[in-house]
Amino acid sequence: MPLEGIGTTPRVGVGPAHWVTATTAAGATTSAGAPDEERGRLATATDTVAAALEAAAADAASTLGEEEAAIFEAQQLFLTDPTVTEAMDEAIADGASAEAAVATAFDALIEQFEAMDGRMAERADDLRDVRSRLLGALGGATAPRLSVPDGGVVLAERLTPAETIGLEPEGVAGIATVTGGGTAHAAIIAQALEIPAVVGVGEELTTVVEGQTVVVDGVAGEVVIDPPRAEVDRRVGTQHPVIDAPVQTTDGVAVQVAANVTGPADAQTAADAGADGVGLLRSEALFLEREQPPDAATQTASYAAVTDVFDGAEVIIRTLDVGGDKPVTSLPVEAGPNPMLGQRGIRLSRQPHRAEFTTQLEAIVTAAATADAGRVGCMFPMVSTVEELAWATEQVDAAVAAVRERGDAARRPAIGTMIETPAAVFIAEELAARCDFLSLGTNDLTQYVMAADREAGGLGGLVDARHPAVLRAIAMVVAAGEAAGTPVHICGQLAGDPEMVPVLVGLGITDLSVAPVSVPAVKAAVQAVDAAAARTLAEAVVAATDREAVIDLLEAT
Ligand code: PEP
Ligand code: MG
Repeated sequence: MPLEGIGTTPRVGVGPAHWVTATTAAGATTSAGAPDEERGRLATATDTVAAALEAAAADAASTLGEEEAAIFEAQQLFLTDPTVTEAMDEAIADGASAEAAVATAFDALIEQFEAMDGRMAERADDLRDVRSRLLGALGGATAPRLSVPDGGVVLAERLTPAETIGLEPEGVAGIATVTGGGTAHAAIIAQALEIPAVVGVGEELTTVVEGQTVVVDGVAGEVVIDPPRAEVDRRVGTQHPVIDAPVQTTDGVAVQVAANVTGPADAQTAADAGADGVGLLRSEALFLEREQPPDAATQTASYAAVTDVFDGAEVIIRTLDVGGDKPVTSLPVEAGPNPMLGQRGIRLSRQPHRAEFTTQLEAIVTAAATADAGRVGCMFPMVSTVEELAWATEQVDAAVAAVRERGDAARRPAIGTMIETPAAVFIAEELAARCDFLSLGTNDLTQYVMAADREAGGLGGLVDARHPAVLRAIAMVVAAGEAAGTPVHICGQLAGDPEMVPVLVGLGITDLSVAPVSVPAVKAAVQAVDAAAARTLAEAVVAATDREAVIDLLEAT
């Protein structure tokens, strides 16, 4: 029986298992010199680590993308975080060595982060990274690097972002971890490195013995121990070559397969994977990596670099979507008792991030003017009222006027709304009438329809868009789009599941946007769809009673 986890890089890898152990707080017991001497050692180590993290960020920015670079930039902030620096200083004043001070201060904070939910808990891995780098620098060592036999599958309780980025992608057949969620930074890096990965497998993974052959099936989200040859071939065969052309169903329905990207670097990866355009540019990545929000010129350059990659194709830029599970240091948010139901997305763009919203819109309309033949879209996140959309659209028009008044070129982008809240589903017709396109954000839509936190573990099948409640919501939005003559796109993770492609096409969605690494498999899935049969399947799936019935129908296809 395969072990089940969360497939985070939809690739399949096979190789001998190699267990790596978590980074430890080695050296914490070193005997202490005088406090001033220890402070001096700590200051030197901090400078070394700051420089190493800066280099790691620059490296990630050029090889992976802005989002991956932001991980290391955010780690740098821990070095100057007063909670950490004051705790280390106090420990040294009490006679501790620099090593012991690092261990004490970081362990306390790691414990606090681990007690939190979702992405906050995942930041504990970042703290572990910084702690181990500091301890390494105090002992004269460099960044942590895992040694993996060539072609091995890395098995671990968990991996930190630095451990993951330190892996040689060509030499690693796959990654499987006991803990970890699909949105953990290490998972994001593994996806960018295109290493097959399955996380959150659970304690059963520990039954795998060093050297045993394992298949990491990131497509199915499974780990198979000692599989027969035929099974390896079947699973490896589920990977797909790049299809560098538009695709259609067997009966001629054209389906656009665009990509979800964070900036120019992964836009290029997406283009190389055969993406037809960008269905979601998550612009917050540009803000994540800085202590101050980027100015209009920086943003324009970044957006224009993405439109350049997709010369002639559609690029949809989503305005800032911070708050909830996406904290941005440069734009602090009063989280409130329930961040997911508090200030998020467009709500923050009205207040208190109004000025940043204006700057961003000016950058978008300027970039839209430079995009040659391609169409630039501007899409708003977390909309739940018509009034929010109307206000945001007015701001776009104001941005066009302001830029032109300064004598610069501006073009009004296509206007779109993400459908992520149940409210947006129920008023989809009114929203559609005021938009050039709608885009289903099924990650958030699922969490709000099912009242199940997308970041929390332990909610099992509730956080699954393959529930009839979510699928009926999608069907309602498609009907609303048809009534208003407005195309409905989908950019949530659901679109990247090849098994769901016939259902989505059957529901009438012909604009999919998926992670770059998923583009080939989704394009292949489109080419296998018979649109007429897909309509019948979609009807059955929407009429199903529960998630299990939906999965049975998908498996029977
Ligand atoms: C979504 O919610 O489905 C979506 C695409 O947005 P994000 O995952 O960035 O919240
Ligand atoms: Mg969302």
